[in-house]
Amino acid sequence: MTERPVRVRFAPSPTGPLHIGGVRTALYNYLLARKLGGTMILRIEDTDQNRFVPGAEDYIRQSLEWVGIELDESPWKGGPHAPYKQSERKPMYREYADQLIRDGYAYYAFDTPEELDVMRERLQAAKVPNPQYNSITRAQMRNSLTLPEDEVKQLLDSGTPYVIRLKVPRKEEVRFQDMIRGWVVVHSSAIDDKVLMKSDGMPTYHLANIVDDHLMDISHVIRGEEWLPSAPLHVLLYRYLGWEKTMPQFAHLPLLLKPDGTGKLSKRDGDRLGFPVFALEWHGTDAETGAPTVSRGYREDGYLPEALVNFLAFLGWNPGTSQEIFSMEELIQAFEIDRVSKSPAKFDVAKAKWYNEHYLRAKSNAELAPYLLTALAEHGIECSEQKAEQVVGVMKERVSFPQDFWQEAKYFFEAPTEYDQAVVSKKWNAPVSAALAAYADALPASSEPSANAEVLKAIFTQSMEAQGLKPGQVLQALRVAVTGAAAGPDLFETLAILGTGEVAQRLRAAVERLG
Ligand code: GLU
Repeated sequence: MTERPVRVRFAPSPTGPLHIGGVRTALYNYLLARKLGGTMILRIEDTDQNRFVPGAEDYIRQSLEWVGIELDESPWKGGPHAPYKQSERKPMYREYADQLIRDGYAYYAFDTPEELDVMRERLQAAKVPNPQYNSITRAQMRNSLTLPEDEVKQLLDSGTPYVIRLKVPRKEEVRFQDMIRGWVVVHSSAIDDKVLMKSDGMPTYHLANIVDDHLMDISHVIRGEEWLPSAPLHVLLYRYLGWEKTMPQFAHLPLLLKPDGTGKLSKRDGDRLGFPVFALEWHGTDAETGAPTVSRGYREDGYLPEALVNFLAFLGWNPGTSQEIFSMEELIQAFEIDRVSKSPAKFDVAKAKWYNEHYLRAKSNAELAPYLLTALAEHGIECSEQKAEQVVGVMKERVSFPQDFWQEAKYFFEAPTEYDQAVVSKKWNAPVSAALAAYADALPASSEPSANAEVLKAIFTQSMEAQGLKPGQVLQALRVAVTGAAAGPDLFETLAILGTGEVAQRLRAAVERLG
């Protein structure tokens, strides 16, 4: 038998911004596709028109582009199975619903919303825990299984609204093998007679999803754990449509939990927990008030896409070695679906930050300088490329995000007006002040070529000796006088970047202010 070509799909619904868990699902699909030389497909599942959110599709596209997930077939790129948007495929689903009816696996249901309410209330009153339209209750409802044939025909002919429901068997075990969870066995009594086709002729998610996965020849369905309860129903659909032999292999990814493990990480958690749950910033509207809202994104918070990808890859998967740093290429090589865990993964944003620091430090000074230059321009400060590179060079071990360069390195561009009080009260005194004034005098004038860190350090040591002080007694005061801060990168490197003229000026200002 020839090997089946690997074709995977990411199938988001455009009901709002793509959650970070969705990005992980897309990533795992992509890694498997690339690893096995397969095809990565994106299909928009927009059969629920009531939940459609304008802008969501574009947002999905941009999120995937930003993290570097390339699509081989998509609504934007097209492909042999176009269209890739379910609303544009609407006419294609009807025949399969009809086929299921013809073969006795589905039926017409004419119940009005009021009748459905009455049924639920009746069952609730009888203490049925989870009232459903199913193999038992269907017998009391108005459908093509209970009504006489001529009445059904007359209802259909007269245009009475109806839905098409799956006729789920009463007593049957539905089993399938999940690539992550092993055998999954569900009793059919736990499955309700799901609606497959709505009264407006639009298929529901379940029907459209199975028909499309079949027509698009999908080999593996990799999706979130929240779809596991739907999988037995999907298996029944494949069987009843006669497609069981080519049914895709399922892999249901582990849930993403809040950092404290108390429950599923939801779209609303971002604002509450203080970190983004979206790849990109999302501009939406408040569901209740209609007021504009902004939700934070990893991109805008200063995460590098390679850091986010590395972090997400490890939320539920690991390579089985101690290596933690993986480029996309390395992930593709190392990824094995067998190594995806079935236990939920805690979303630890501190780890994302750790990855970001790593990838930031791995960049050259020339690559990082633009972040600082942009912030400087916003603050109306002029700076040469060369100086920006020097500053990011000494600062990169000390920052987590590109925007920190400006926050943490302001003093390279603005003389301090305040001084860290803890250092001042402990380390500043008259002899120290006099020694720093002497150091300012000993520094070469600003017109001379600026001295390097070693020269500045040597002059400092000499000045301190002349004052009868040990350098260690003055170092912290020197830092605070020049930068205002208690800590920072190598002090004499800092002085060298600032230039002797600026350093001398700052020292004199501090001596005057602090006495
Ligand atoms: N449209 C579903 C979603 O929004 C796709 C589920 C699946 O992959 O089958 O996640």
